[in-house]
This record gives sequence, structure tokens and C-alpha cells, in this order.
Amino acid sequence: MSAEVPPEVDAQRRRIVAELGQLGFTLPGSIVTRTVTCGRATCGCASDPEQRHGPYIQWSRTVKGRTVSKMLTVEQLETYQPWIDNGRRLRELAHQLETLSLEAMRTAEGWNS
Ligand SMILES: [Zn+2]
Repeated sequence: MSAEVPPEVDAQRRRIVAELGQLGFTLPGSIVTRTVTCGRATCGCASDPEQRHGPYIQWSRTVKGRTVSKMLTVEQLETYQPWIDNGRRLRELAHQLETLSLEAMRTAEGWNS
């Protein structure tokens, strides 16, 4: 037996699942690009933001509860970024599907909370 779900709610589920079905490769984590100062008072970076070192491109993800980071080149960034964007979309869609399902079951079952 399956929960009674209104057609419009099932249509939303279909939209989410259809987009999931189109998704390419997915990487976890996120990318941060930053420039840094080196700490030497005589270096240009100390006073001029334009002379800060970098950019340093860092991909970070969580592995067994620990943050693991990898430095990327600009070329690698172009390769990794689409997969990382897909990973973010995967998590968004999974969250949407779960939220929709919770609402559907709440309605079908008449939960109070
Ligand atoms: Zn410097």
C-alpha cells in the first residue's frame, strides 16, 4: 500500500527525479579561491591588495568527519568546477525530494507535528 499523494505533488516529485536523471558526475565539497599576504613587511603584498599572492584555489571536502583539501591549478579548476556544481545540485535536489516527501506523508497521515 502506498500513501495517497495529490497529482500536483507527484508532478513535483517527477520534476525533481527527472533533473536527477540528467545529472552528470558529482564531486563533494566546495572550492575557495583566495589571495594571501606572506607576512614580510617589505613585500608589496603588505600594503597593496593588488600584490597579494595567489590566487590559491583550494577544493575542500569532508572525509570521515575530517576536512580534506587539495590545491588546484586554474586548468584543474575548469575541470573540477562542473562536477562540484553538479554535486551541489545533487544535494539540493535530494533535499527538495526529502522535504516534498515529508510534506506528502505528513498530509497523507495527518501528522500534527
Ligand atoms: Zn608578500
